[in-house]
Amino acid sequence: MDLKNTLIDLMPAPLVRIFAAPYIAGKGIAAGVAKADEIQTKLGLAATVDLLGEEVFRREDVEATVQVYFRMIEALQGRPYASISLKPTQLGINESEAYCQDNLQRIVAAAAVHGIHITLDMEDRHFTDVTLRMFKAIRDRYDNFGIVLQSRLYRTPDDIRALHTKPCKVRICIGIYREPAEVALQDKADMKDRLFEQVLLLLEHGHYPEIATHDEPLIRRCLAHLDAQGVARDAYEFQMLLGVPRLDLQQEIVRRGQTMRLYVPFAEDWKYAVHYLKRRLAANPAMAFMVMGNLLGR
Ligand SMILES: Cc1cc2nc3c(=O)[nH]c(=O)nc-3n(C[C@H](O)[C@H](O)[C@H](O)COP(=O)(O)OP(=O)(O)OC[C@H]3O[C@@H](n4cnc5c(N)ncnc54)[C@H](O)[C@@H]3O)c2cc1C
Repeated sequence: MDLKNTLIDLMPAPLVRIFAAPYIAGKGIAAGVAKADEIQTKLGLAATVDLLGEEVFRREDVEATVQVYFRMIEALQGRPYASISLKPTQLGINESEAYCQDNLQRIVAAAAVHGIHITLDMEDRHFTDVTLRMFKAIRDRYDNFGIVLQSRLYRTPDDIRALHTKPCKVRICIGIYREPAEVALQDKADMKDRLFEQVLLLLEHGHYPEIATHDEPLIRRCLAHLDAQGVARDAYEFQMLLGVPRLDLQQEIVRRGQTMRLYVPFAEDWKYAVHYLKRRLAANPAMAFMVMGNLLGR
């Protein structure tokens, strides 16, 4: 571990809480649901609610996580503006693919009953194949299931072409995980150019791109191009993380009559929120400066 990561790891929890405050809805399902309601009512924004807590290893903890997702589904009923995001490492992938797929399918099936959409987040490159395999197997049976792809990976255009014959919702983002040059672009501008191209590729293949970025020039590039091509405004949407200050741009998108969705994480246990922030700070140390800039700029 290098010095930078060691420093991030040694950061005291209260300090991490300061960093976390704008980004996390709070503790418990009710906090996630309340934030989804608040941003919809006050700002016209949609939400995808996420339980923090990656890398769950023990079977009883995985089952407890599945139960939280069942309770979330109950709690989010009657809210067409809210979806759910989840991760394979929360749901037993560390034990086996079959076990994780079964847990995922139980959640997707329960959500389908209430018309709630589930997005399978993409983790680092070690999980790409298995995540796509589980997605395809379940997507065959359920329409309320989407996935995430990362534009930094060289393989992503092939993954889009091989995705599925059935159109589905695909969140397309640059990806949070640092990946080596053998498998991924290293330059952010290149990742964003690829993201733009992959939005077009997804549309070409009949999918619904969920364009997840805070980069205003990239968003404007997408809007200008898709408007010029006459692409329907309900054929795609934009997504951002709760807490990143982009209110004017978000409101502009809402005024265009388009879906603007925020990723709304909540924690059942505060230690997971601390872990989430530390992992993201370690993956992207520049974020510490962004957060300070955003906090000071408020
Ligand atoms: C809804 C959503 C879901 C995502 N799901 C996944 C996933 O499943 N798998 C995955 O690998 N990655 C995921 N990501 C992360 C994503 O891939 C990027 O790492 C992240 O969005 C930053 O990339 P950017 O395109 O905004 O560009 P950047 O150049 O990183 O950011 C542009 C600007 O946005 C602001 N900004 C960006 N991030 C932050 C932040 N955290 N705090 C404060 N300001 C910030 C800064 O002002 C920055 O200059 C998701 C992102 C979003 C928005």
